[in-house]
Amino acid sequence: MIDTVLIKKLKALTSIRVIFISLLLGSFFLLQVRYSNFPHPRAISNLIVALYVLTIIYSVLLNRIKIYVIFAYIQLFVDALATNILIYLTGGIESWFSFIMLLTVMSASTVLNKRAGYIIATFNSILYGAIIDLQYYKLLPVEFDTTLIERDFLYNIFVHISAFYLVAFLSGYLSSRLEKTTEVLEQTDSDLKELTLFSEELIENIPSGIFTTDTDGYILVFNKAAEDITDIERKIAQGKKIDTVFPFIEHITDIERAEGVIRHNKGDRIISLSISSLKDIRGERIGFIGIFQDLTQFKKMEAEIKNKEKLAAIGELSASIAHEIRNPLASLKGSVEMLLENRVAEEYKEKLMEIALKEMERLNKIITDFLTYSRPTAAEFTMFDLDLLLDDTLELLKNTTAQRENISIRKDFYGNLKVTADPQKLQQVFWNLGMNAIEAMSSGGELKVSTRRENNFIEVVFQDTGVGIAKEDMGKIFYPFFTTKIEGTGLGLALAYKIIEEHKGKISVISKQGESTTVKVLIPQDNGKSK
Ligand code: ADP
Ligand code: MG
Repeated sequence: MIDTVLIKKLKALTSIRVIFISLLLGSFFLLQVRYSNFPHPRAISNLIVALYVLTIIYSVLLNRIKIYVIFAYIQLFVDALATNILIYLTGGIESWFSFIMLLTVMSASTVLNKRAGYIIATFNSILYGAIIDLQYYKLLPVEFDTTLIERDFLYNIFVHISAFYLVAFLSGYLSSRLEKTTEVLEQTDSDLKELTLFSEELIENIPSGIFTTDTDGYILVFNKAAEDITDIERKIAQGKKIDTVFPFIEHITDIERAEGVIRHNKGDRIISLSISSLKDIRGERIGFIGIFQDLTQFKKMEAEIKNKEKLAAIGELSASIAHEIRNPLASLKGSVEMLLENRVAEEYKEKLMEIALKEMERLNKIITDFLTYSRPTAAEFTMFDLDLLLDDTLELLKNTTAQRENISIRKDFYGNLKVTADPQKLQQVFWNLGMNAIEAMSSGGELKVSTRRENNFIEVVFQDTGVGIAKEDMGKIFYPFFTTKIEGTGLGLALAYKIIEEHKGKISVISKQGESTTVKVLIPQDNGKSK
């Protein structure tokens, strides 16, 4: 047992003893009940005085002694002894005070433990048994009622001894139970305190702003980070309505994520915040809890990066355009110079002029394509039959590439496929894909065009048996100006990508080099309506 607990119990024992002596014995002494009948009336007063003196000695010793268990045993034995003396003095078998022995047993098991209870019970049994026996054999000068016979004496002893052990057992059991319960309670209490402290520390030290409110949105908890981010002191924030701190929240509800600006004397801050319900154990809402971060710095960085990326992209694009334009210009310049110097034989002149014209045409095409790519017109959505549009496009393709008769075009259409989209832009996409396929099959092959419906999406597939795309080029084919063709502009797929994106669709390419290329376009069937 821990000493402090034992000291506390010993102090309690002392106080109870004083009260008990004063109350019971004092009153008995003062009222002089049967006082004159006792064989040694003076001895009773001496006993009381002795007990008072002992109590004073105990109190003085308590602060000096180290071995409290022995000290406790001494007190308990002395108590039991004093009680037996009192019984002897007040008439032995006829004494009214035998019940006090039960109290000494009880105090032994409460102050110390079950074992001490049994020890004091045994001690009481021996002393009490001896007094009653000696009284019966008239070896002690204590008178008793002459009507009492031997059996009465034996029975009295038996009843008392049984009571001592019963009380020792019961009070020992109860006090050990009490001790265990107290221990558990103390543990739970300290666990709870620790947990509370931990969660308070956690909330306080977390780098995100945290607040809680009641169901009406009045702030209760406001942590350190919250103070730092909002520049509002906790004392001021507490009790205020949430919209005075975050004006962008009109009334409090569950908010997955909100972003807003709060005014601050150090400038505006961009806040990202989320709020959820605070519920008690029964699941009833008792308020709200919010967590927020200061995004100001992050947003600034994001904007800077975006700007840098934009500048880099513009730079790259300008370099590509310059490169694309310089080639035809060089050959144009060469042709014109030769014509001007008049060094060329007559029959070549026409040829040179043809080259010059062709290069001019190419320049024009590059610029037109680029303009279509970089200055897109707004999409105009209407409903039309996609199969018909594809038919038209493929017919045009056939006519423009009529000289390549070794290319066949196979159609595998879903039939009567209505779609809401921009027909002109889609035609541009299909034209670019068809052109690429035909250009990839310079020595003949087959282009298969198929349409399909899947859920709310339309799938259009262009599959050719051409040269395919090299693995290392796969990642670049959608870049503007990426081309592997001498006459190419590298804008076809870039433009197609942009248009399909505008339609909230997807475009993907699978290719086996030297065998085939498959381009898949996926667009929502009712684009216009969802816009
Ligand atoms: P361009 O046709 O002017 O070269 P594109 O953007 O249309 O520009 O295509 C970019 C590149 O992608 C082409 O140069 C080619 O290398 C490759 N490519 C596109 N479609 C196919 C195809 N069907 N088969 C093989 N290669 C293709
Ligand atoms: Mg192309």
